[in-house]
Amino acid sequence: MKLNRTMILVAGAVLAQTAVSQNTAPKIGYSDTPIIPGQKWKVHDGERPQPNIVEPGKAFSDMAPAPSDAKVLFDGSDLSQWVGENGQPAGWKVRDGYMEVSRTGGIRTRDEFGDFQLHLEFASPEEVSGNSQGRGNSGVIIFGKFEIQVLDSYDNPTYPDGQAGSMYGQFPPRVNASRKPGQWQTYDIIFEAPQWDENNKLTKKANVTVIHNGVLLHHRQEFLGYVSHRNVPTYGKQSAPTGAIHLQDHGNPVRFRNIWIRSLDHYDK
Ligand code: MG
Repeated sequence: MKLNRTMILVAGAVLAQTAVSQNTAPKIGYSDTPIIPGQKWKVHDGERPQPNIVEPGKAFSDMAPAPSDAKVLFDGSDLSQWVGENGQPAGWKVRDGYMEVSRTGGIRTRDEFGDFQLHLEFASPEEVSGNSQGRGNSGVIIFGKFEIQVLDSYDNPTYPDGQAGSMYGQFPPRVNASRKPGQWQTYDIIFEAPQWDENNKLTKKANVTVIHNGVLLHHRQEFLGYVSHRNVPTYGKQSAPTGAIHLQDHGNPVRFRNIWIRSLDHYDK
């Protein structure tokens, strides 16, 4: 009798363990999402090939001083160039020359920009917590509409179009050039804004060039539309020719430092 009960308990425990391991098997993407227009992959497709890992050089534009014609958005001292997403004061912590996502909502620049060259540095939390999209998630969301993903993608599988440096939900980075959690990393982002004609017809899609730790991820790649989760990106309504740079609060204490931006003028100006 006693033996039987033990056997039942053991069998039950094995079953429970199997159920748990099935439920917690790494799920890194979606299979019930639509196909991305012009591609063979679904939005956030877990079957899409993982970008190859490239070990970046020791430094590229790390702590690059702002050129004389740049606007400094964050020099490590204060958030005077930033406001909260809804216009409230930016609530992120500032200390030791960096700002940190503080679960007070995203922030955006006070000023708006059109075509630009942006430099920024970020560090994923040194203490690893969570996985996939729940680990070191933030984002550089240009005009609040085009997201270059910030994520801890060091030994952290997730769907490729949501990796660090991805054009979120649209294009994975060409390679994974991520540094370890806690280490500072650089993004150099060149962006050209979308354009519409007087009849509200889109005449030029937005495009972006992204260099991550000195490694090219995207080169004048066009955005298919505004950032979207699990849906096909579209341009929707016409946006203004300029917009703010947003930094996302995704609930993870990601740090940023040394942020500056230059407007891109045309030739012969
Ligand atoms: Mg994000």
